[in-house]
Amino acid sequence: ILQSKSAVVTGSTSGIGLAIARAFAAEGANVLINGFGAAEDIEAARAGIEAEFGVRAIYSGADMTRPTEIAAMVAQAQAELGAVDVLVNNAGVQFVSPIEDFPLEKWDQIIAINLSAAFHAIRAVVPGMKSRGWGRIISTASAHSLVASPFKSAYVAAKHGVVGLTKTAALELAPHGVTVNCISPGYVWTPLVENQIPATMASRNLTRDQVINDVLLAAQPTKQFVTPEEVAAIAVFLCSPAAKQMTGANLSVDGGWTAA
Ligand code: NAD
Repeated sequence: ILQSKSAVVTGSTSGIGLAIARAFAAEGANVLINGFGAAEDIEAARAGIEAEFGVRAIYSGADMTRPTEIAAMVAQAQAELGAVDVLVNNAGVQFVSPIEDFPLEKWDQIIAINLSAAFHAIRAVVPGMKSRGWGRIISTASAHSLVASPFKSAYVAAKHGVVGLTKTAALELAPHGVTVNCISPGYVWTPLVENQIPATMASRNLTRDQVINDVLLAAQPTKQFVTPEEVAAIAVFLCSPAAKQMTGANLSVDGGWTAA
């Protein structure tokens, strides 16, 4: 599906982003991976993609809170891979706290990484996509783009914002062969979910098992976590010819959470 195409996937050193980068590579795309982590783990992920799928994989350590680094990441992909045909805005962080205690720097950081970074990256890739008359822009939103949960004010605000940005970009780019969509997973078992368990235990005075079963999976009628690979399969579908009339959509993969 993605032979001779190149993709930038932000926040792809772990979790959903890494699964998307690997799924794109399996379809023949060259990929730029991005995110933080131990240098040897990142290099293992990068080299693993090249070895397993026979594509080029490059890495950018761009910090999604910094617009100049986002622009440099896109320029690096254009220079080393030739173009950015597919952009996935996936980097995201979470912080759990009652509003009145919510640290100001955490609010700014979440809005920057989970929302503004998508704007900066879209802004940088659009001229190339327009000139080629083809592009796919996908953002990882969340069930929290559709519904709220207490103590996640910044995250819920940012994810609702991603949907508005997606719809606006979809309208602007519709005449140019560029589709813009988001995917809204429910709870996916990744470090992002695992790391918020202690704070949720504290804010709600619950045990670890209670957080997993009564808070996280309580929201999901299937009583199962979504897998990163299931999210990645939707991203691949959005790049396929079958999806070319899908734009401005927000695709739920949440075990029925937002049906309730
Ligand atoms: P994760 O913690 O496994 O991965 C997050 C990635 O973002 C990592 O590669 C990390 O290094 C990177 N990152 C963090 N801060 C960054 C920064 N400033 N600059 C660049 N990269 C940065 O989390 P995940 O669960 O795979 O989350 C990926 C996306 O999916 C996020 O947008 C998240 O909000 C969304 N999401 C996750 C779930 C879930 O249940 N896990 C559900 C819905 C949506």
